[in-house]
Amino acid sequence: MSEIVEVPLPGREYQVRIGTGLLARAGAEIAPLLHRKRVAIVSDAHVAALHLATFRDALTAEGIESVALTLPAGESTKGWPQFTRTVEWLLEQKVERRDVVVALGGGVIGDLVGFAAAVLRRGVRFVQVPTSLLAQVDSSVGGKTGINAPQGKNLIGAFHQPALVLADVGVLGTLTERDFLAGYGEVVKYGLLGDAAFFDWLEENGRAAAGGDLAARTHAVTRSVQMKAEIVLRDETEQGDRALLNLGHTFCHALEAATGYSDRLLHGEGVAIGCALAFELSSRLGLCPQEDPSRVRAHLAAMGMKRDLKDIPGDLPAAEVLLDLMGQDKKVIDGKLRFILARGIGESFVTSDVPREAVLGLLQEQRAAC
Ligand code: NAD
Repeated sequence: MSEIVEVPLPGREYQVRIGTGLLARAGAEIAPLLHRKRVAIVSDAHVAALHLATFRDALTAEGIESVALTLPAGESTKGWPQFTRTVEWLLEQKVERRDVVVALGGGVIGDLVGFAAAVLRRGVRFVQVPTSLLAQVDSSVGGKTGINAPQGKNLIGAFHQPALVLADVGVLGTLTERDFLAGYGEVVKYGLLGDAAFFDWLEENGRAAAGGDLAARTHAVTRSVQMKAEIVLRDETEQGDRALLNLGHTFCHALEAATGYSDRLLHGEGVAIGCALAFELSSRLGLCPQEDPSRVRAHLAAMGMKRDLKDIPGDLPAAEVLLDLMGQDKKVIDGKLRFILARGIGESFVTSDVPREAVLGLLQEQRAAC
């Protein structure tokens, strides 16, 4: 059983297939894309140990030969050294212009391999096989690829759309609960930014999805991907509406920088806290009903997720420092902080018109409660 979300970008259209058993059918799913029956797979050590054999067996069953490279797991892989290694390995494997490269893993592998595919021989096709919830609902769709620089996250990259995305929700069963819930932070974000009925559904079904209910997981991933695809279609290269996908991210990036991009705060955890703060700020500015921030926080609490600065272990810098870190976000334009705020659940919008004192006051209160 699988759902299909079409991403009909002119000349670069592709499908996102979502459901169970896709890994075990990967050979049949990918075969129509191939000019010769051979693919190069890049994965990370955690994912390769758990899922690479199933994936390769599925290719072999369709007579597709495969070669595989396994990179270390973790965000530090997403830099020049492992990127160079990957590109050179793909060349050693004689991957040609018409071949297909497969990214089997979370967002780190998807971003790095997508960028490698974008530059290899001036661009080869690639298939995303996202294995983390975050990658299934966000990073595998939309074509943003890249690596981190010493100067900051995701500063080197390219837009390169995949040729196909296979999101097998069955593989989410091997994620740690923490990694699953971090990805769920992005799922909640979609409800909050543009679909109140989806947020209602999450309030009802989020626990079932976290508990392993495959139908609930399929629906949560499908609705998220539909929303991401709609926004990407409207604004592929983020000239406008795509910024809505950054709900919660201005706060999140400051918190990630303040915690040194470490295990203290995973990206999706920062997004969840950032969404709660964005709704609190919206309410204080009189933009959204007062009960909305409480509702957002209540759902995160019911899911067992972080929602306030005090939920982040260890010391955080002062509110002023956090505000400065927000100013270093790469989404800043002409020195003005851009926020995604909301007029209600499911009704977010982009604005540069946020008084600095309102943000500072909110951060000061949250810091004082730590
Ligand atoms: P990740 O790739 O590091 O995966 C998180 C952890 O889960 C890793 O240890 C990984 O090995 C493990 N893992 C993945 N799938 C697993 C599975 N099925 N079973 C067991 N373990 C598994 O991180 P992530 O959270 O998937 O992605 C974060 C990255 O995505 C960041 O680098 C971020 O910048 C990027 N990102 C990109 C976009 C985009 O549009 N391109 C959007 C959002 C995030």
